[in-house]
Formats: sequence, structure tokens, C-alpha cells
Amino acid sequence: MTLTGHSLIAGRTVAGEGKTTFGFNPATNEALEPAYTLLTEEQLATATAAAKDAYASFSTLDPETHASFLESIADNIEAIGDELLVRAGQETGLPAARLTGERARTTGQLRLFAAVVRQGDYRGVRIDPAIPDRAPLPRADIRQRQIPLGPVAVFGASNFPLAFSTAGGDTASALAAGCPVVFKAHNAHPGTSELVGHAIAKAVTDNGLHPGVFSLIYGPGSSIGQALVADPAIKAVGFTGSQSAGIALMKTAAARPEPIPVYAEMSSLNPVFVFDGALAGDPESIDALAAAYVTAVTGSSGQLCTSPGLLFAPAGEAGDKFAAAVGRAVAASAGQTMLTAGIAGSWNTGTGALSAADGVELIGQGTPGPTENAPAPAIFGTGVEQFTTNHVLHEEIFGAASLVIRYTGAEDLLSAASRIEGQLTASLHLTEADYATAAPLIPVLEQKVGRIIVNGWPTGVEVGHAMVHGGPFPATSDTRTTSVGTLAINRFLRPVAYQNIPQELLPAPLQDTNPWHLNRRIDGDVVAAPQKAEVGA
Ligand code: NAP
Repeated sequence: MTLTGHSLIAGRTVAGEGKTTFGFNPATNEALEPAYTLLTEEQLATATAAAKDAYASFSTLDPETHASFLESIADNIEAIGDELLVRAGQETGLPAARLTGERARTTGQLRLFAAVVRQGDYRGVRIDPAIPDRAPLPRADIRQRQIPLGPVAVFGASNFPLAFSTAGGDTASALAAGCPVVFKAHNAHPGTSELVGHAIAKAVTDNGLHPGVFSLIYGPGSSIGQALVADPAIKAVGFTGSQSAGIALMKTAAARPEPIPVYAEMSSLNPVFVFDGALAGDPESIDALAAAYVTAVTGSSGQLCTSPGLLFAPAGEAGDKFAAAVGRAVAASAGQTMLTAGIAGSWNTGTGALSAADGVELIGQGTPGPTENAPAPAIFGTGVEQFTTNHVLHEEIFGAASLVIRYTGAEDLLSAASRIEGQLTASLHLTEADYATAAPLIPVLEQKVGRIIVNGWPTGVEVGHAMVHGGPFPATSDTRTTSVGTLAINRFLRPVAYQNIPQELLPAPLQDTNPWHLNRRIDGDVVAAPQKAEVGA
């Protein structure tokens, strides 16, 4: 399609009356056509008003239409074809293979949420039937279900222009919950956002839904993004990005006359703990572990929220060999173009601060990539004492950089782990011989992270029913949930109880005939959904 450079409000293309901006190719630092027009706050209000209007019909949609809508979005994204991958590649510098995989993840999670909508357990139906003859007081008929919160504002991240952006996990889970979405396009990939935005709008039309179910708006996060979250029509926020922006949105949401929840995924260092047993093998196995670590640090230029920014390795000879192998592996790596000139600049600032810190040395560095924004991957080394006393060593460097911390014994390791801030993940490399040493670390890590991994790397987040991509602050703003996987739908729901409501007035999920074939908890017991033929028989 021909990119318009405009917002898409409730199915209509709307030229912004504010300033204009361009996407940039980070490989060349050149502006990409077309110019994008930015909305004013008055124009933004039309999107939030349309989302508010759409709530009544969208939140009560029958499961089959609702699921088909999510599947249509996936189909429409695929139908864009290579144009989407080409534009996303131009705007982000990410290679085609990575973007192809990311598109599959994006459409896969939309289809997974369609299955969740059809299956229906997220509606959380509980029925406590009346007990009229209970003494001393009768019990009323009380029924509970989860309802969608209302219109959701979604902000995507620069590093996943598809899977954490316009039709990414936050949008998919909010739409699956039955919440209209107003998506604030990321300035780093405006064209990619427009292509996907039209795919969603077409699905809205094709499935006969209210056009306000989805809007895509262009404007600076610090003004239009803030105004969006302050708008009374918005009832929740999904965000992936930097800690500073996430915290700014949390403050705005909390200061509203009606405060709303913000589900912000922010920074994470994803510590890795290497135990003695993992380094007790032959030199090849130490080299292989070091190479796998460097691959996890440098993949996608290290621009992953799950990139391992810290690795704890034992002091002593085996640890020395491992550090040397890390140095060789990173020296063989090359820089790749980062997402934006600004992100490459922040990487330079962050690694500069780390290399200037007391007691920090460079273990090894690769070669720069072929473009201005492709710095050479770097891995640094230090000891537990420096790590525990210098906050600079705890700051995320977004990109291909990591810090190896040498520890002496289990107590040293526990002490360091207990000082780490909230993280998305922690990984343990060990053998059976290390189980006794590792056991006390697990309860410490449970308090710090959302996912614990053994003999693997945190990169590559499976989208499924059991995944947790979350963790205590500052990894996220709300430790109780996840932004990846089907549990993410719960963020946009709230329970309502219905007491003594006649069948004729009850919503479909709660009616005795169970017309939507839902599993229900009746008087505390799970009662499986009847087969479709049995319903009403
Ligand atoms: P970002 O700069 O925080 O931008 C994300 C979104 O927030 C953009 O739409 C941006 O608008 C908006 N925004 C920026 N400042 C704002 C403010 N003051 N108020 C309201 N909205 C604001 O994030 P990014 O560009 O994706 O930068 C990468 C960072 O994200 C890294 O530091 C990385 O740690 C983090 N990240 C975390 C995860 C995770 O899952 N934890 C995943 C990916 C990235 P504009 O379009 O106007 O900039």
C-alpha cells in the first residue's frame, strides 16, 4: 500500500495538525518518506471517544466473531507480504530473517489469543447457587465473571517493531480481553506501524465491528502519549520500552482523578549464574559455554529485553579459562546496525561509564559493523565487591555489552544475588554436583525475577500458556503479571459479581444454559463445559 503518513482514527485516515516527523534508516541515517503528521490533543480526543463508544458492543461480542477478528488481523498482516519486512528492515536495521521470525511470532500470538477466546476460561465464571433454606440465613445466588476494563492505551518498543508494537502482545491481549485499543505509534518505525495498523482496521471492518475498536495515533510520547494516558476514556495502559518513559507514564496514570493500572515492561539485566560444575568439563565445553554466552549478548545487537547483561563466574582457574574463552569469542564478533542513532549513542555512553568504573576491565571486544550505528560488542569483567558497591554496574546498557562478575564461594554469590534489582529472568548453568550450592539461590531469585532458567539462555521467549515475561520493579511496573503468553489477557479484565440476577438479565457466560460452552466453577468445583450438542438438551 502507499503509506499516507497519517494517523488512523476509528477506520479513517486523519492528517495530524501538529508538526511532522520522519522515520530514519539507522544504516544510513537518512530520512524515509513519507513525512508523518502528528496529532494535536484535540484530534487525539476523537480516537479515545471512538474507543469509548466501541466498548459496549466489543466487550460483549460472541466468542466466534471475537476469535475470527483476531485471526483476520493475523491473516491481514501476512497478506501485506514482503513490503512489511522491507519497510521494517529499513526503519530498524534488523535483518530480514529476524523480522520474518518476528512476524510469525506476532501472527502466532494473535491466533493463540483467538484460541483463548474460543476456549473461554479467561472469563472466570464462578457460580455459587442460592441456598434458600440455609440457616440461620439463606444464601443468595451469586455469579462472577471477568469483564474487560475498557479502552486500553498501548505503547510499543523500538526493538520489536512487530511483536511488541502495533499488533504485538499488548494489543493482542487487550483486544482478546474485549478492550478497544488506541495505539501510540513508535517514532522509530512509523511506516511499519501504519502497514500493520491498516491490517487491524481492515479486520475491524471485515468482521463488522465498531470502528473505534482500534486507532493508531502519531505524536510524541512526551506530549501525545502523556495526554492519551491522562484521557478519562482510557482505563489501562500496556507499555514496553525504557524505564524513564515507563515511570513517566506510571506517574501520569496514578495522578489522574481516576487512577488506572499501567503494565510497563522496562529494563532488565537478566543475570546468569555459572557454577563450578558447568566449568568442570573439557576445554571444548568451556569454550562452547563462552561462545553461547557471547551469542546471547550479541544477537540482535543485544537489543533484547532478555539479553544477559550480567554473568557471575567463579574465581579460580576454571573461571579464568572461561573468561579467556569469552574474550576470544567476543573478539570474533562484529557490530550490527542498532535501531536508532540515539540507541547507539546511549550504548556508547553506557559502555564508557562502565569502562571508567573502578575495578572494571575490558575482557574482550569485537569489531565495529559497517555503519555508523554499529558499535563493536564489548564484555567487561569485575569482582563481587565492586558490583555490590557501585550502582553504575547495575545499570542496563541496551545493546551488545555485558559484565562478568567473579565470585568466591556460595555466600559471595548469595550476597550478590540479594543485591540485584527486579529482573525479567535469571539463568543458572550447573550440573548435578552443583545442586546443593544452587538450592539456596532459588528462593532468593524467586523474589527478584519472573523466570528462572537452568542450562539455557534468557533470550528467545516462548509464547505459551505457562510463560512469564515479567518480574519485580524496575523490570516491570506490576509484578503480578506477564506481557507475553496467554496469562497477559488477565491484565485487562476485572471481576464483577451478580447477585440474584434473573436469567433474562444475566450476561450469556453466566446463564444456566451456558450458551458459550464455558468451563465453570460451581460451588467451588470445576465443572467442565458440556459438549455443544448437550447444551440446552
Ligand atoms: P522508549 O524510548 O521508552 O519508547 C517507548 C514508547 O514510549 C514510545 O512510543 C515513546 O514515544 C514513548 N515515550 C517516550 N518517552 C515518553 C514519555 N515521557 N511519556 C510517554 N511516552 C513516552 O523505548 P524504546 O525506544 O523502545 O527504547 C528501548 C528501551 O526499551 C531500552 O532501554 C530497553 O531496555 C527497553 N526495552 C524493554 C523491553 C522489556 O520487555 N522490558 C523490551 C524492549 C525494550 P516516541 O515514539 O515519541 O519516542
